[in-house]
Amino acid sequence: MCHALLQTPAFYTVLRRVDEDLARLVREKGCCHCGKPLHSADYPRKPRGCPPVARLQCDSRLSLCCSNCRRRTTPESVRFLGRRVYLAIIVVLRSSRAHAVCLGGLPQVGAVTLERWRQWWSEAFPGTPAGRWLPGQLPPSSTPDRRLMSLSIDHRNRWARLRFSVIGPLLASPPDKGELQQAFHALAAKVWRHPITGADVQFGVSTIERWFYRARHVQDPVDRLRNRLRDDCGHFVSLSPAIIEALVQQYRMHPG
Ligand SMILES: [Zn+2]
Repeated sequence: MCHALLQTPAFYTVLRRVDEDLARLVREKGCCHCGKPLHSADYPRKPRGCPPVARLQCDSRLSLCCSNCRRRTTPESVRFLGRRVYLAIIVVLRSSRAHAVCLGGLPQVGAVTLERWRQWWSEAFPGTPAGRWLPGQLPPSSTPDRRLMSLSIDHRNRWARLRFSVIGPLLASPPDKGELQQAFHALAAKVWRHPITGADVQFGVSTIERWFYRARHVQDPVDRLRNRLRDDCGHFVSLSPAIIEALVQQYRMHPG
C-alpha cells in the first residue's frame, strides 16, 4: 500500500463509500429479527489518532435501527474494527512490525496497546472466521512481550480501582430514586487523576452511568470494572471474508 495514500483525503472518502455500500446492502435486507425496514441511526465517533485529513470521513459509524422492534443492526465496516477506538487502518498498519519504520505520518500508539493488538492478531484472530479464511496472509506472529503484558495487567487493575473510586460512594450509599442522574452529573463535573499518567481527567455522564450499572449487585465490583476481553472477541464482525478479499486484492495491486 502506498503510504502517501494515508494522507490523502480521497482515500478516506473511498473507505466511507465502501461503508455506505455495505450499509445499503444490509438495509435492503431489512431487520434480521422481524424483517421490517431499517432506518439510519449512526453512532458519532471520534477515532483516536485519526489523521486530520480523515476526520470528516470518519466521524460516524454507520448503523441502522429497526422501525418496528427498535433493535440495532450495525453493518460491517472498513473504517472501524469493532469497538476499537483507533481507525481500522491504524490498527492494521501499526500492528505490523514491518511497517513500523515507514509510518512517520501516522499517529503513535502506546506500547501496551500495540502489544495487545499484536497478541490479538497472533492468538485470537487465526481462530476467527476471517482468520481461518485467510491463512498465510497474516504478518508473522510475534512472541508476546511478557514485560508489556504484565504492564497491561497492571494498567487494567489501576483503571478498575479508579472506576471503583468514582462510583464506589454511589454503591455504598445509593441515592434516592430520582437523584441518581444528579449524582452522575456531579461526578462528571469532578476532575480525577488519570491512573497511568497522573494527568487530570474527566468522565462523561454516560460513562459513569455505565460503570455504575455494571458494578451494581455484584460480589466483586472492582473485578467487574476491570477491562476484559470484549464479547465480540473471536467473531470480528467488522472484517468479513469479502472485505478481506477486497483489501488483499488492493494490497496485491499496490504493494510497497
Ligand atoms: Zn425489527
